Amino acid sequence: MSDFAVLEVILKRNLSYLGICAVLLAAMIIGRWRLGVGGIERSLKRQSWGLNTLLNFTIYGGQEKDLDDALALVKRYEGILDRNPPALLGQLNLRKTEQIGEELASLISRSRQVGLLTGGALDITLGRAVELWDFGGHPRVPDGDELAEAMKGTGWAHLSVKGDRVRFDNPFLKVDLGAVAKGFVADRLKDFFLKRGIRAGIIDLGGNVLTFGTKPGGKPWVIGLRDPFGSSRSVALWTFRGDAALVTSGVYERGFEKDGLWYHHLLDPRTGMPINSGLRAVTVKSDRAELADALSTAFFVCGRVKAEVLIREHFPDVTVVFFDERGRGSAVGRDVSELSWR
Ligand code: AMP
Ligand code: MG
Repeated sequence: MSDFAVLEVILKRNLSYLGICAVLLAAMIIGRWRLGVGGIERSLKRQSWGLNTLLNFTIYGGQEKDLDDALALVKRYEGILDRNPPALLGQLNLRKTEQIGEELASLISRSRQVGLLTGGALDITLGRAVELWDFGGHPRVPDGDELAEAMKGTGWAHLSVKGDRVRFDNPFLKVDLGAVAKGFVADRLKDFFLKRGIRAGIIDLGGNVLTFGTKPGGKPWVIGLRDPFGSSRSVALWTFRGDAALVTSGVYERGFEKDGLWYHHLLDPRTGMPINSGLRAVTVKSDRAELADALSTAFFVCGRVKAEVLIREHFPDVTVVFFDERGRGSAVGRDVSELSWR
């Protein structure tokens, strides 16, 4: 073998050795970056605005790009779920189309199911009444006649879903998905993060919280329940492991005061007026955020006595905290032992 050939062999050996070292070093750096100091997996957080509310994401084991893409997904769903055009639902409301795609049609269909099971307490056909109150914009107390007009021909009987088509028998009926949209999007975000290989996280859409995966170090999730009078204090802590959604409907979330009266955004499907069901807030825990969202609105509207019957008969896997008018909380359902009152 010539001197050059010997040198080539030595170089090749060393280069492959160096290559292995480089790969190992890169793996260590990435591993350390993912794990953070002390071996605890590093979290990434992001706050933003979307779905008319404050969004807070915490993920364990992902990258900034995952959060960027999650926010883009929220934008995409705003373009589907908003009551007004150019969103897809807005186009349905203006009767520009009946064919709205499987995703939106199936959400309406599942909401219809909960609506029927809860005796119409959840009623997404109240769109025109919601529009009149305009809680998220320039709220005002509607005139009795205009509200009666907006409530004409509302209710589940006037809407049907077949495949990806929604039909109305009332030309003026409008759908509002405010009661279920955040839950639906939270579930989609969880699917998205899991597909990206993110092991755990908290998706908080305006206080409606979904946790997934195991927190690094195996610690449980601890989620505070907000004071039903609206202060930022938590009145109870919910401690659990794994995947769950905690969704609240409360009078303090959206509303306004006029002549000493507080008008809130949870409407009586019979009248279109804010409902008085003897409650200040309801929080529902379920493994699906969409169901928790639908039920928190429905249980608030139908009140505690009826809600307890519904939980027993149709929703045995949910746990519900009711806050009465005086702000006293009590819970029913499978996971009540996870709650500690403060
Ligand atoms: P949530 O905060 O999930 O309880 O949803 C409340 C929102 O749902 C309101 O702001 C309205 O847009 C809409 N809404 C109000 N009352 C009802 C009702 N009885 N059924 C369905 N949606 C409602
Ligand atoms: Mg809801």
